[in-house]
Amino acid sequence: MHDFVFPAVTLPDSAPALRQQVREFLQREKDAGSFTPRQNSWSDGDAAFSRKLGQAGYIGMVWPKAYGGHERTALERYVVMEELLAGGAPVGAHWVADRQSGNQILRHGSERARQLILPQIAAGECFFAIGMSEPDSGSDLAAVRTKAVKAEGGWKISGTKVWTSSAHRAHYLIALVRTAPKEDDRHAGMTQFIVDLKSSGLKLSPILNIYGAHDWNEVVFDECFVPDDMVVGEVGGGWNMVTSELAFERSGPDRFLSTYQLFLAAMDKLGDQPDARAVNEIGRFVAHLTTLRRMSTSVAGMLTEGKKPILEAALVKDIGTAFEREIPEVFRQLMPSEPSMEEDRVDFESLLGMGMLKAPGFTIRGGTREILRGMIAKGLGLR
Ligand SMILES: Cc1cc2nc3c(=O)[nH]c(=O)nc-3n(C[C@H](O)[C@H](O)[C@H](O)COP(=O)(O)OP(=O)(O)OC[C@H]3O[C@@H](n4cnc5c(N)ncnc54)[C@H](O)[C@@H]3O)c2cc1C
Repeated sequence: MHDFVFPAVTLPDSAPALRQQVREFLQREKDAGSFTPRQNSWSDGDAAFSRKLGQAGYIGMVWPKAYGGHERTALERYVVMEELLAGGAPVGAHWVADRQSGNQILRHGSERARQLILPQIAAGECFFAIGMSEPDSGSDLAAVRTKAVKAEGGWKISGTKVWTSSAHRAHYLIALVRTAPKEDDRHAGMTQFIVDLKSSGLKLSPILNIYGAHDWNEVVFDECFVPDDMVVGEVGGGWNMVTSELAFERSGPDRFLSTYQLFLAAMDKLGDQPDARAVNEIGRFVAHLTTLRRMSTSVAGMLTEGKKPILEAALVKDIGTAFEREIPEVFRQLMPSEPSMEEDRVDFESLLGMGMLKAPGFTIRGGTREILRGMIAKGLGLR
């Protein structure tokens, strides 16, 4: 049975000053009118804002300076990320590139890919999308059918990816595809490729979300050529790479702060004299938030030590996304009001309306809760 332990982590001495720096940066940007705080802000892109964050040194923070990074620690990065998210900053354009694609390229990419791409990501000028899901392969990723066939100097990819968030605004997509047929080990024969989204042989079509906005894309590959130096890691080693990256993808503050702006707006609206039921709910949310933050920083600490806390990260994501999903539901019942769908407004009614529409996706993206609970149950020896 897996021993679920979340050791306490002490944030570095530099954390308070760094936190203050980010808060001042956000205040200056707000005063200058460059953004209004929004919820789910890591899915909401603003290329100009990402460029400013790049200039401020808040992207690629842990990467080597040789690749445009800043050689800060993972916990320093954590402090900056939680401040940006809690402040509702529009960090979505570069989020995937900074959180996972860039890290994969740094660890497993070719030297050319590192030199070409990492400095652009760190400058806030290069954005990535994730190409994992397919029409018949979401939770069961090993069922992917998109395939790559060897060609002179590279590979030709054919097949279809779906639900690729923001691919229409991104420069590259990392696609998980099959490079060898499924045999006894269905996890073997899968490889990741960095696909330039301007390549020929690619067609993007919008998939609209529940409120009609263009969030996702279907990406159809028709013998799309990808050069050899855009293969990530070993050919056939894609599965291990994807699963070991999951701990980074699932454990950060982005997995519990998506409706934090709504929480703040609800407390403002409740004022100084909330009734007993509201007091109970707020107390419960604050207790959960404190615990989640403790668990999430603990996973960040384990990752810094080179451990692979995949099950701990699954637990953070399951509890974290349930928490951020519950906020609109509870405040909807506590303060009956007419939800609005005006995304640019930041009053309680608009945050509630948009929060209710966005929340169902929180427990699906990055692995559904049934899948996470299956992993956790296995870890506990229950199945
Ligand atoms: C907001 C959002 C953004 C997304 N962005 C991306 C992206 O950028 N790139 C990308 O590749 N994908 C993306 N996805 C897709 C997401 O990863 C998939 O939706 C998810 O993995 C589930 O796959 P599916 O939709 O095919 O559902 P299915 O796998 O068909 O699942 C349907 C239901 O069955 C349950 N289920 C499936 N298998 C099991 C099992 N073994 N045991 C118990 N229950 C099971 C699931 O939990 C779910 O409730 C995004 C999704 C959302 C909502």
